[in-house]
Amino acid sequence: VYLIKAENLLICNEKFELVKNKAFAFKETILEFDSLENLRVKYPNATLIKTAKNSLIIPAFINPHTHLEFSANAYTLAFGNFSIWLKSVLNNRVELNAGAKTDLILNVLKAMQKTGTATIGEISSFGSDLKACVQSGMRVIFFNEILGLNPNQNEEKKIEFLKRFKASLKEQNPLFIPAISIHSAYSTNSELCHFALNLAQKHKMLLSTHFLESKEENLYLRKSKGMFFKMFQQAPLHKIEDFIKLFEGQRTLFTHCVYLKELQWLDKNFHSITHCAFSNRLLSQKSFALKQALENGLNVHLGTDGLSSNISLSMLDEMRVNLLIHKDFDLLKLAKELLLMSTLYPARALGLNLGSLEVGKSADFSVFEIGQTEDEQLALQFILNAKEVKKLFIKGKECKF
Ligand SMILES: [Zn+2]
Repeated sequence: VYLIKAENLLICNEKFELVKNKAFAFKETILEFDSLENLRVKYPNATLIKTAKNSLIIPAFINPHTHLEFSANAYTLAFGNFSIWLKSVLNNRVELNAGAKTDLILNVLKAMQKTGTATIGEISSFGSDLKACVQSGMRVIFFNEILGLNPNQNEEKKIEFLKRFKASLKEQNPLFIPAISIHSAYSTNSELCHFALNLAQKHKMLLSTHFLESKEENLYLRKSKGMFFKMFQQAPLHKIEDFIKLFEGQRTLFTHCVYLKELQWLDKNFHSITHCAFSNRLLSQKSFALKQALENGLNVHLGTDGLSSNISLSMLDEMRVNLLIHKDFDLLKLAKELLLMSTLYPARALGLNLGSLEVGKSADFSVFEIGQTEDEQLALQFILNAKEVKKLFIKGKECKF
């Protein structure tokens, strides 16, 4: 048993409670909150974790959408709209993938831990990120991705997918959780979708999909026009409503949804939205309507996307970007909401028993050192100023940096 105390504990429950000068006991899960004095009496053999006077404890961040296989990108990929970006991805894919070796990905994962992230949702296109994810010591939801338009290639696509899928199943453990990603409505034919959905159902796995990310995708899915129509020379394979229906009754993260007006078509019990603000600015030509989505009662959480469309995988950086773009929110309220969108909400979306500092939940939390500020300002000032953790615990175990 370990004991830890801090001047500020951001619980990240629904009420966004701030608890002052309290301690808690934990092993793999959080056992009990009390004063440090009482806990020391109750757990005389427990190890006390030393913290500085101005410490803040917060649940570890969850970043449910990364593409680590593109971690070698800087200057290479082009931004401005989806069409320019996609062309640059297709031209540089092999070279970028070759650059993202296990060591590089491990360094990127280390940097994420230093910025307070314990859990990621990794979208794996080739499987070249598997080794690093398994070795990282982080909690990884490993979304094996499938895509393919041409039905004549379905059999080879399935064989290639199953190879990666089975390799990930072999590594399954409490911190490495295999899952499935269907790339998108514009890129994956019905047979491959059903193949993936059936597998997810059979293995009770999470699903993820990119959805209505760009202007080009919107034009294609709604009007059979634009860049994708020119590229594929055929009408889209799914209607928007039908594509959502495919995921009926299955826990799914819909990433982006920048152009989804029909929010009521998502099922609040199973579906959630991963909002990647920085990435959307580079590729999508429109901002996600966060306010409407929250008003519709949807679970919206933050993700960074990969370094293929971001300059940082720090959730703190992503929160700072969100503070700047969502001007229709009160700043102080938005700061609190963003912290929940990086902790409690993604935990719920992923069905994980963590994301808030509560008894019985996994002991996934960060310790930061902060400056003096009023309680009401704390969430905002923390997002504005925090860079790196002092300590990070995942399932009760301290990470070594
Ligand atoms: Zn993505």
